[in-house]
Amino acid sequence: MKTDFDVIIVGGGPVGLLLGCLLKQKGLTFRVLEKRTQPIPHSAAIGITPPSLKILNQLGVAEEFISAGLKVRDCFVHGQSGKLGCMSFREIPDLHRFVLALPQVTTIALLQKHLGAEWIEAGCEVTEVHQNTDHCRVSAQDREWTARYVVACDGWRSPVSASLFHGHRICRILSVTWRAKTLGRANRYPH
Ligand SMILES: Cc1cc2nc3c(=O)[nH]c(=O)nc-3n(C[C@H](O)[C@H](O)[C@H](O)COP(=O)(O)OP(=O)(O)OC[C@H]3O[C@@H](n4cnc5c(N)ncnc54)[C@H](O)[C@@H]3O)c2cc1C
Repeated sequence: MKTDFDVIIVGGGPVGLLLGCLLKQKGLTFRVLEKRTQPIPHSAAIGITPPSLKILNQLGVAEEFISAGLKVRDCFVHGQSGKLGCMSFREIPDLHRFVLALPQVTTIALLQKHLGAEWIEAGCEVTEVHQNTDHCRVSAQDREWTARYVVACDGWRSPVSASLFHGHRICRILSVTWRAKTLGRANRYPH
């Protein structure tokens, strides 16, 4: 079946936008569907690690990110009883021997700029995804699209993959999430 796009990405956070940049580089057709119209003001993804910087380098945008952020070469961990330890990124065998500290709003803004507004549908909350043998159908409010694949980049709680991934044999819906050990309730970051 002829579909509207090769890929539909649900979620325009750091992961969805970066995936969009990579698909654009490959010449694939896609849309990033993001329910928010404004990025979240706080930072969850604040540290960009060397493997992620390598990907940004492949996209030709690493230097722009690096000049907007702060290179963290050494990290000191303090607890209530004082200094607990330290670690250094100076010796890691990678192109970039530091973690880049960058506010998430800046990361989002730079990725959106690189991607281009025409690839992103903001204010578009995905409510349903159906998969068939050769395509998926995605609904958001009163709109609908078809794509060969759907990638759920809607955060670690990922309602899309939670509701659709299990129990399906056909794998046209992929899920990309980041999962941390659950923090105590008071420390949990609002997403
Ligand atoms: C305290 C804390 C500190 C962290 N520090 C780091 C760090 O230093 N470095 C790091 O790499 N990571 C860090 N993380 C993890 C960080 O949250 C993730 O790396 C990052 O946010 C993952 O990006 P994402 O795009 O997968 O998800 P998110 O940032 O959660 O983005 C998901 C997007 O999907 C959208 N969305 C959700 N549902 C729908 C829907 N139905 N339709 C359309 N859009 C939808 C949301 O609006 C959102 O924009 C930290 C997390 C926490 C909690």
